[in-house]
Amino acid sequence: MTAQVTRDAVLAAPKVLLHDHLDGGLRVATILELSDEIGWTPRLPTTDPVALQAWFTRGAESRDLLQYLATFEHTIAVMQTQAGIERVAYECVVDLAADGVVYAETRLAPEQHEQQGLGFDAVIEALAAGLRRGERDAAAAGRPIEVNAIVCAMRTEERSLEVVHDVDRIRATEPKVVAFDLAGAETGWPPSLHAEALAFARARHLNITIHASEPPDLELISDALSHGAHRIGHGVRLDRDTSRDPATGELVLGPLARYVLDHQVHLEMAPTCNTQIGAVPSVADHPIGPFLRAGFNVGVNTDNRLMSHVLPSSELWAVAEAFGLDWHEIGRLVRNAAESSFAPHEVRRRLIEQVIDPAYAALAS
Ligand SMILES: [Zn+2]
Repeated sequence: MTAQVTRDAVLAAPKVLLHDHLDGGLRVATILELSDEIGWTPRLPTTDPVALQAWFTRGAESRDLLQYLATFEHTIAVMQTQAGIERVAYECVVDLAADGVVYAETRLAPEQHEQQGLGFDAVIEALAAGLRRGERDAAAAGRPIEVNAIVCAMRTEERSLEVVHDVDRIRATEPKVVAFDLAGAETGWPPSLHAEALAFARARHLNITIHASEPPDLELISDALSHGAHRIGHGVRLDRDTSRDPATGELVLGPLARYVLDHQVHLEMAPTCNTQIGAVPSVADHPIGPFLRAGFNVGVNTDNRLMSHVLPSSELWAVAEAFGLDWHEIGRLVRNAAESSFAPHEVRRRLIEQVIDPAYAALAS
């Protein structure tokens, strides 16, 4: 008999997470402790853990991306030392493993962690050390997980070429660095502003994902693809290039949506976050449900676990509940992410064949 789709069953099922910002996933207790250590506490809006969580979530729910991004001042402030970054990376891994995640890609922008003199290599060294310590402890606790890293350049800054050169250099010795991303405010900062960095990334065969969730909507997604993005961060507004056939109710695709479907470009969607910044009115109005059923390569992500107050399991459950997904459909969301991850092909195959497919086949049978 098919297992019922419940919140607990979704929590226990293996999951894959491709879009999660390290500086958006800190534990509230960790922010308070690290703030205390570095003298940042007087700058915090409150030292009450419950009130601090509520403050971050209010920022996320402001429906204003710039106000949302402003909350990162406090998380980034406590990630200016190798010890701080290592701890946050470690906790990210064990928290995701406890939530049933078996493979994840976390991301950060090293240029935001240099306020006290850390350089690119020191940031990556601390990040990778934290990820590996987390993997060891998670495995010892019976929750094996692998977590790789995506390195972002901030699109509002002018360091993308330097960052992508560093990414290309460091991946030779640090296999945890698997891709390059453009992050931060999007409107007014299209990927084409970073054409030189993206051309270098393509020439060096780096994996590329690019955020595209804000107006001008389709232009940003199109711009990201023409600069070589293998995956799109969010892409939520691609639904503006779709309509419904009034007679059949079927999804009718414009040229961009058709391209994304036909080429199976992965969309790293984060329904709660997309709702909070005002891209869609609610999770039920999110295109992820119709896109999944039309065969798009979509996956479910958290984006910022702290600010959006979500977990991979709560996001997957929210989508399953909003669209009445069955286990085949939930399994497809997870497999889409596994197949589109930037892990080596052999790792992806092993993950799908040995972990994901058997688990979802059992749940659906
Ligand atoms: Zn993001």
